[in-house]
Amino acid sequence: TEARELLLSRIRDVPDYPQPGVVFKDITPLLADPAAFTVLTDELAQLCVRHGATKIVGLEARGFILAAPVAIRAGLGFIPVRKAGKLPGATLKQAYDLEYGSAEIEVHAEDLCAGDRVMVIDDVLATGGTAEASLHLVRRAGAEVAGVAVLMELGFLGGRARLEPALEGAPLDAV
Ligand code: 5GP
Repeated sequence: TEARELLLSRIRDVPDYPQPGVVFKDITPLLADPAAFTVLTDELAQLCVRHGATKIVGLEARGFILAAPVAIRAGLGFIPVRKAGKLPGATLKQAYDLEYGSAEIEVHAEDLCAGDRVMVIDDVLATGGTAEASLHLVRRAGAEVAGVAVLMELGFLGGRARLEPALEGAPLDAV
């Protein structure tokens, strides 16, 4: 579609970042273009409404940039899922494996509860590890997963397959 073309044209490939051999998808040109940023916000907000979300979770850090305007657009609350050690209140923590080592994310326990239907938003789905861990957090908090929505999916990294079991039938959409 036209919207998709516009968005893809505003993503910059950066070779050998952050390591040799990796091509990083840089979304800063898209964020700097108000027309493109608006299109992206509207597309993601539509997905949230379509999937019956009642809350929006954004994944640190680029997920925050997208999820915040989407939450306002959709009229829903924004909940940050942060890297460990950044949230001041009582949290739920979830560890997950990286290529080398592991990482931990957390959410304020009181921000999600039974009856909530949560849409998880991030910029890029790579291996799917971060999104997978966030779905575990959502369910451990007692909430339901409405879906996962990203700007783009790096298909060759197999994130969709990794995420599949944790989705439990909920949709994964790439704009
Ligand atoms: P995953 O856990 O799926 O392997 O990694 C996803 C996380 O890493 C996301 O939070 C995403 O922001 C970041 N990420 C991984 N690769 C890229 C990339 O090429 N471009 C951008 N913008 N983010 C990436």
